[in-house]
Amino acid sequence: LSMGPRLEMFENEMAKYTGRKYAVGVNSGTSGLHLSVRALGIQEGDEVITTPFSFIASANCILFEKAKPVFVDIDEESFNINPHLIEEKITKKTKAVLPVHVFGVPCSMDNILQLSKKYRLKIIEDACEAIGAKFKKKKVGSFGDTSVFAFYPNKQIATGEGGMVLVDNKQQAKIIRSMRNQGRGSGKSGFDHIRLGYNYRLDEMSAALGLMQLRRIEEINEKRKEVALKLNESLSGIEELELPYNPSESERSWFVYIVRFSEEVNRDEIPDYLRLKGVQTRPYFSPIHLTKFYRKKFGYCEKSFPIAEKVSKATLALPFFNQLSDKEIAYITVALKKAIVKLKKS
Ligand SMILES: *Cc1c(COP(=O)(O)O)cnc(C)c1O
Repeated sequence: LSMGPRLEMFENEMAKYTGRKYAVGVNSGTSGLHLSVRALGIQEGDEVITTPFSFIASANCILFEKAKPVFVDIDEESFNINPHLIEEKITKKTKAVLPVHVFGVPCSMDNILQLSKKYRLKIIEDACEAIGAKFKKKKVGSFGDTSVFAFYPNKQIATGEGGMVLVDNKQQAKIIRSMRNQGRGSGKSGFDHIRLGYNYRLDEMSAALGLMQLRRIEEINEKRKEVALKLNESLSGIEELELPYNPSESERSWFVYIVRFSEEVNRDEIPDYLRLKGVQTRPYFSPIHLTKFYRKKFGYCEKSFPIAEKVSKATLALPFFNQLSDKEIAYITVALKKAIVKLKKS
């Protein structure tokens, strides 16, 4: 039920899919990010540059090792880390950049790779929301020193809990394998612990689920895209609404369907209004630096990262899943149009 053949198959096929040498299955995306930080030797006092507009795990994984997440504000179109603001945040303590392909839109990896070369920085690629996406024809998950996918129920591949770390470096792969399994070495005894390790193993049931979905990932992503494009079509022409970003040089994957409201709409009241019509929506994400924990720990306040904050206040996730029907899309559209008319600021 654990550490069996399905895990190995899932890992092998994942490595092949992303064009990487090694894949290590773990029990969540968060554990994958944590092991990445450890395997790259990031430790107390080090700094890692990342985005405040993400799921909290992409910053917490840096704190797990007492290193410091240094936030850089986002690009207003792609919602990803703004590559042009990274360089000014690099110090002697900077060890790595941790870009996140937010909502399935690939980060501008050209710029990030260039900076990593120039300053000898490691890259931890958080591809948890973006399996199948391509930056300039190259799959995400192939750019980082370590790259991480996640298989939580809302992701494109869902195993319940689960994640995968991709690397090309043999020694790093070995260390990550060992750390996910209580720091075991290659000794035959079950008590050959040679380093600090964890129980971050991906169980066989989850691996089996992941493997079967990976084998039809093109179909899954195609279906998600089809639904997203139908939503785009149905919602187009609403003046107060900006539809999800469509990168020109890259190919996105569809994790969530996020719309942005213009300033004259009272976005905060939209979810309650739509809930009464049976349409569930919610803000996605709340900036990491404005969570209670980060405010308290680092003293962040409003206006620290204005674009991330502005985007977070103006966007909502709409219902989005493979089986969303044409009828439901039409219903959502009508409800949303009514909500916008009703909730215009006067
Ligand atoms: C889902 C996700 C993770 C990992 O989440 P887990 O729930 O631990 O699998 C990490 N980063 C981002 C951006 C995510 O969306």
